[in-house]
Amino acid sequence: MDVLQIDNLAKAYGKVRALQGVSFAVPKGSIFGILGPNGSGKTTLLSIILDVLKADQGNYSWYGQPATKEMRQQIGSLLETPNFYHYLSATNNLRVTQSISKRGDQTDIDRVLKLVKLYDRRHSRFSSFSLGMKQRLAIAAALLGSPKVLVFDEPTNGLDPVGIAEIRELMKSLHQAGHTIIMASHLLDEVEKVCTHMAILQSGRLLTLGSVDELLSDEDLIEIAATDMNQLQSMAASIPGLVRQLETEGVLHLYFEKGQADPPTVNAYFHSRGITLKHLVYKKKKLETRFFELTNT
Ligand code: ATP
Repeated sequence: MDVLQIDNLAKAYGKVRALQGVSFAVPKGSIFGILGPNGSGKTTLLSIILDVLKADQGNYSWYGQPATKEMRQQIGSLLETPNFYHYLSATNNLRVTQSISKRGDQTDIDRVLKLVKLYDRRHSRFSSFSLGMKQRLAIAAALLGSPKVLVFDEPTNGLDPVGIAEIRELMKSLHQAGHTIIMASHLLDEVEKVCTHMAILQSGRLLTLGSVDELLSDEDLIEIAATDMNQLQSMAASIPGLVRQLETEGVLHLYFEKGQADPPTVNAYFHSRGITLKHLVYKKKKLETRFFELTNT
């Protein structure tokens, strides 16, 4: 079942066409990454589905229903860092949030603070928190009332590697607890490590869509090197199953059709022709490679 269905959404700011006919569906139980460079339309898209902005064209539905205020109440979101009070504790800040959003009760505040691992610091002032802790408190605010769907815009923005890793772990545990998560990011690594599905946007258009595994595994890659790279290249051309080869920085990249790359076979192939490989590595294609292939076309 799809949690969110988006059909042909378009939005322009004057001459800037921020979204141009974007359609996709978010499966229930997924961590759905909306990936794209700065200015590709991610925030505009999230603002529309959260009813903060109105689209010029197109529709969207949550659980197959047109969006209503009640439906919107069941979606936890973090579009930008909320204005927490610096002199208030984590608990008191969430009380303020709760008095506005009317989500959950006191026991819920303790629950969400435990989920984001801030319970031990619940009485500390917001001003004493690290950036990562502030972001986790913002996520805690989105979790009040246990919404099944969570929408986050660039949840790791501005964080150091430790803060990024903390948020990543939090996303995975929320996913395991049954939440569907929709998150925008411009960080390829983040989407690759956290998301189950993704849509790639560029200049307001949808470039590609699918499960992260599918999008990354359409080809297999083996890297090899030997003393005589010219000889290696000419011999590699007749390896069974090879789609193409590419030499960069003294390493030959051999691309095979999905499921066709077998390092022992490649090693035996060259060995039987009197060539000893000094480097042989099997690699799954990285999202970075895929992303640049897609955005360059
Ligand atoms: P970023 O990663 O930088 O936040 P984004 O992918 O979220 O970018 P949007 O913020 O949705 O992209 O912006 C899409 C395009 O619309 C950009 O060209 C941006 O400059 C433009 N834009 C966004 N908001 C406005 C606005 N309020 N007025 C005018 N142009 C806008």
